[in-house]
Amino acid sequence: MNIEEITSYCKRTGIIFPSSEIYGQMPGFYDYGPIGVELANNVKQSWWKNFVQNRQDIIGIDGSIIANPLVWKASGHIDSFTDPLTECLKCKKRFRADHLIESKAEMQSDGLKKEELTKIINDKKIKCPECKSSLSEVKDFNQMFSTNIGAVNGNTAYLRPETAQSIFASYKAVMDSTRISPPFGIAQIGKAFRNEISPRNFIFRKREFEQMELEFFTKKDEKNECPFFEEIKSMKLNILSAEKQEKGISKAEEMSIRQAFEKKIFSNKWQAYWTAESINWMIGLGINPEKLRLRQHMKNELSFYSAGTVDIEFDFPIGYKEIQGIADRTTYDLTQHQNLSKQNLEYFDEKTRKKEILYVAAEPSAGVERIILAILFSALTEEKERTVLKISPKISPYKAAIFPLVKKGLESKSKEVFDALKKEFNCFYDESGSIGRRYRRQDEIGTPYCITIDFDSLKDDSATLRMRDSMKQERIKIKELTEEIKKRINKSQA
Ligand code: ATP
Repeated sequence: MNIEEITSYCKRTGIIFPSSEIYGQMPGFYDYGPIGVELANNVKQSWWKNFVQNRQDIIGIDGSIIANPLVWKASGHIDSFTDPLTECLKCKKRFRADHLIESKAEMQSDGLKKEELTKIINDKKIKCPECKSSLSEVKDFNQMFSTNIGAVNGNTAYLRPETAQSIFASYKAVMDSTRISPPFGIAQIGKAFRNEISPRNFIFRKREFEQMELEFFTKKDEKNECPFFEEIKSMKLNILSAEKQEKGISKAEEMSIRQAFEKKIFSNKWQAYWTAESINWMIGLGINPEKLRLRQHMKNELSFYSAGTVDIEFDFPIGYKEIQGIADRTTYDLTQHQNLSKQNLEYFDEKTRKKEILYVAAEPSAGVERIILAILFSALTEEKERTVLKISPKISPYKAAIFPLVKKGLESKSKEVFDALKKEFNCFYDESGSIGRRYRRQDEIGTPYCITIDFDSLKDDSATLRMRDSMKQERIKIKELTEEIKKRINKSQA
């Protein structure tokens, strides 16, 4: 499947469609449909359970989208959250210079300065892809969306371009209201907005998207004291190091996390641990491990705040692309906010009586949409007579679908089963079309179990339970259905 096929599949099945399409498309904005909203909520809930609720060392917040603009001054976004832009001198269409160079000249241009990008465009004679005219020199384009607060013009504020700053800006309030001590993390799931120059590839690059982020704080000299490192150090990953990329090599090599740590691909042990945790979580959702690789950022592409970043990338039909970044953000953000707000953001250690700004050893930051796209590309399977979405039952939009075999005579029993099951899971009731067609519709949206009520059900209080992946059918007592499905979901068998 390619991006276009996934796009039309998502529209047809009610997963995702272009926003406000009746008025023409707004590039970069999409709506979740009835199936997509369930899928996205399940992905987010799974992340929250795994990274917050199941742990003692992580707490969560939900920050506002608009904050005091000084937040973005302190973080550096107002001055430098830019993408390189080039404009057609004739048709005035605008393009992201680095992406244009990558596609037209097939060369990596991450981290190059705008003067260097302009030179490549001139040297390689790259023209406007729309009208073939010449392109302008490359300029910085700030990606933040701005708005006005209240009735006063000029009271500019910004829609947050990342969720991370909400965590740093409310760090003091969190610390004052909890008794948490390092190492610990603050997590958040929420919307972020970036005025991308050219949003593209369906939901891969949107202007409004969601992030699942975690800031993990340690004392500066304890960033390698990760008690879980032993558990994950033998895990093997496909890794593309900065060194290899700097030599022009693009093939990843398999190595253990311990080896990668020794080669300084990870900048600290907590970063290695959160990378492993994130990859294990993704695999648990049904993302194909063979399509994942870890890419270390080269020196010239590192964000200004980062002492080391690794990206988890997925092999999409458009090539390996980032679905999650894990940055070592140092003490940069808290120091900046302390300086500008004049508030003390230091941590006071009761035992040593010492104060210090805590260190963000790792910031795992995943995009909900890119995770969903990787799930779809991993799980959507074309078989001879059907399309099946083989996702983990834990995240499937409906856990079960209930069908009366025929419309007449079975409605009351079928509704009874539906009413009982929907108290426990999100279920779907369908009485229209042939039974085969009804199975196919559920296969396509990943429903792991279909339950058919027939005339025997009225006599023996049993129903047919049909499994999505194997298409095997079993006869099962109606009163045992809920427990049986629960058991299977927990074991994740479809
Ligand atoms: P890219 O280089 O692809 O623009 P980024 O490095 O700017 O991504 P981060 O700032 O590290 O991305 O954001 C963390 C995560 O947020 C990304 O891994 C991605 O999953 C998601 N994300 C970032 N920008 C977008 C976007 N425009 N649309 C959808 N998801 C996004």
